[in-house]
Amino acid sequence: MAEEAKLNFRAIETANLPDIALPGDYNYIAAFLTLDCNLGCSYCINRFGTLASPGRMLSGAEWITGLNRLAGTPDLPITLQGGEPTLHPDFAAIISGLRSDRHIDILTNLETDLDRFTAEIDPARVKRDAPYASIRVSYHPESMRIEQLAAKVLRLLDSGYSVGIWGVMHPFWKEEIERARDYCIESGIDFRLKDFLGHHEGAMHGVLSYADACDRLTASEVSCRTTELIIGPDGGLYRCHADLYEGREPVGTILDPAFSLTRDFRPCSNYGFCNPCDVKLKTNRFQEFGHTSVEIIRNG
Ligand code: SF4
Ligand code: SF4
Repeated sequence: MAEEAKLNFRAIETANLPDIALPGDYNYIAAFLTLDCNLGCSYCINRFGTLASPGRMLSGAEWITGLNRLAGTPDLPITLQGGEPTLHPDFAAIISGLRSDRHIDILTNLETDLDRFTAEIDPARVKRDAPYASIRVSYHPESMRIEQLAAKVLRLLDSGYSVGIWGVMHPFWKEEIERARDYCIESGIDFRLKDFLGHHEGAMHGVLSYADACDRLTASEVSCRTTELIIGPDGGLYRCHADLYEGREPVGTILDPAFSLTRDFRPCSNYGFCNPCDVKLKTNRFQEFGHTSVEIIRNG
């Protein structure tokens, strides 16, 4: 059977799934199309703990069906990310197939074929009224040169895309990140800084709302609830980034006809082995500071 026919067949199988209503206070929808990446940054947050072996990857048709079930909070974009999301073989098809009333953001390292990207992805489809760019490119000085990355971004800007660069303020790379920021600002590119989250020279960096959540010493039992929809490459719906990266059991799948979302607390016995992404103090999608993705209640 031709690949296209297989995709269509899968779409028909799952076409009549009911909507999944998003709670009104959800702040983020993350579709991790793949955890594979064409770079190997030493400080990659996906590898803060143990990165589980990749499981099955949803096809493009399955992603489209699953993501198009999400209902409510129309201003909340679906963020296609990874790993490097452009490595998904159906990356462009997923963007074309998502409901036109759903905003789309992309997190990428832009290590991709730009001719193909600009030919296949409509700039208007990845653009919205927001205080930051819809395509957020990460700059990693370990394996990139800012001059080359800026040239790619300028090309996308000239083609009408909403795009900016984010640099992680890793203590080792501080001077280079500041140089890159100045270079981009002079070039007319929106460059933003992201806190480094992780361990460097024995110290944990990043402001955590739950100080011992990432100690990785003792696991304890808590109740936890999130404001983020974390969807793994296999369509699994995870309580948090730590569960996804470490291969813990998902709470459901995006293709499960019976799945519904609630804001109920869920039991967790992995507190202490959280990922900084979930427990750090950060801005919400309106760029208001003071937000933390999860709320945790300690038992006893
Ligand atoms: S580009 Fe991003 S996802 Fe890829 S290795 Fe670097 S930090 Fe990790
Ligand atoms: S307590 Fe930590 S590991 Fe457990 S669900 Fe919450 S964020 Fe994830």
